[in-house]
Amino acid sequence: MTSPVRVRFAPSPTGYLHVGGARTALFNYLYARQHGGTFVLRIEDTDQDRNVEAALRGILEGLSWLGLRWDEGPEAGGPHGPYFQSERLKSYAEAARRLLHEGKAYRCFCDPADLKNRREAALARGEPPKYDRTCFRLTKQESDARAAKGDAYAIRFLIPEGETSWEDEVRGTVTFQNSTLDDLVILRTDQHPTYNFAAVVDDDAMRITHVLRGDDHISNTPRQIQLYRALGLTPPRFGHLPMILGPDGTRLSKRHGAVSVTAFRDDGILPQAMVNFLALLGWAYDGEREIFTIEELTQVFSLDRVSKNPAIFNYEKLDWMNGEYFRALPLSTRADLVAAYLESTGALKGPALRDRAFLERAVEAVGDRMKRPRQFLEYAAYLYVERVEPEPEPWAELLAKPSAAARLKKLASLLEEVQPFEHDPIEKATRGLAASEGVKAGEVIMPARIALTGKKVSPGIFDVILLLGRERTVERLRHAAERLEAESPARTS
Ligand code: GLU
Repeated sequence: MTSPVRVRFAPSPTGYLHVGGARTALFNYLYARQHGGTFVLRIEDTDQDRNVEAALRGILEGLSWLGLRWDEGPEAGGPHGPYFQSERLKSYAEAARRLLHEGKAYRCFCDPADLKNRREAALARGEPPKYDRTCFRLTKQESDARAAKGDAYAIRFLIPEGETSWEDEVRGTVTFQNSTLDDLVILRTDQHPTYNFAAVVDDDAMRITHVLRGDDHISNTPRQIQLYRALGLTPPRFGHLPMILGPDGTRLSKRHGAVSVTAFRDDGILPQAMVNFLALLGWAYDGEREIFTIEELTQVFSLDRVSKNPAIFNYEKLDWMNGEYFRALPLSTRADLVAAYLESTGALKGPALRDRAFLERAVEAVGDRMKRPRQFLEYAAYLYVERVEPEPEPWAELLAKPSAAARLKKLASLLEEVQPFEHDPIEKATRGLAASEGVKAGEVIMPARIALTGKKVSPGIFDVILLLGRERTVERLRHAAERLEAESPARTS
């Protein structure tokens, strides 16, 4: 019988939840759910200098927003806590001392500044900057005596000779020559563990069966495997998830755009879309299907479809995917999201926003054009202003049409009278005008669109007219016609 799956996400609280971290969390979550296992959240906060509180909040908030609920960890508790490494210092010190007593680790009294110089000198000679084992050469008596005297020391792990291999869940067999590994410090002078050591001690204490993490950790894995062996423990399985690159093929960073999960949230990305998008960063189902709910992902996710090759973070694809989810939402939910966005940005205030029924009609008219709430104003800003200022390019186009002004005036007169002021009669009047002028409907509709919205792209013109209402429509059409006449270079008629 294999033991039940236990995986973990182990962020260092360094600022916010990066999309790379969120992808790692998601894959762990999916793997746990799929195997009826446990998803553990462990906070690797042994670096005291950082503002852990705020960063922790960012991580918990990001994970919760994505719906990646952890079974054990901060807030959730669990039988293998505490889940903050800063509260587990004793266990690292104990394990390090054990290795020391067994001769698998040794005290290092080297001065950090000195070490730095030696490392730099090695690099300058073109050698790997490995620790030169100065303190390994101390006799036991010398080492004990210095410790007894109170000399500060770190504890270093003695990397054995040979090589280290493992069957990676993603990459297959991976082998490192131990000669390339350093005798790493496992416990610092201040009794704090280093990442590799704390991770091993905790992954064992928390009974982690599968370590799925970014492949920037791949060179840590042989060190960790050696530590497991030295501690007499069986290592978990490892799977290294491919790196995430920006669209230009360099490592994803702020240069490319947003990278924190909460920034995407604040920019109107839906959690369902974010999860779906993250799932496809390094994993694919059949190379075709791309839309999956988190429940579906739990069914179809598998580690053997995780790619070894880097994944590209395509912002346009995320935008498209968000559109797929956004459009599928009920109208009232879309209106809620638009209202929340407009409110939070202060883009629209007061009475305009409070007219909920109107907002809903506007959202409905914008329809599929909108892929996220912030695009609402692109298609609807003219509904919320007294006067539109047409954009220069469409206006120039109108000016170039000598008959535009007259048609706008005629349309204004028709719409002033049309009864009832509803979609179909409005459409009939507009098309009737085009027919009587012997032109295509577009020759009336396009000028009207520019006059009413200031743009060449908008929701359906009859919806726009209805939303503006009779008075504002007529007023805008006439105003545009007058302006055209005034500005037209060829005032022939
Ligand atoms: N705290 C490490 C990080 O944030 C965890 C790496 C691991 O999963 O072992 O990169």
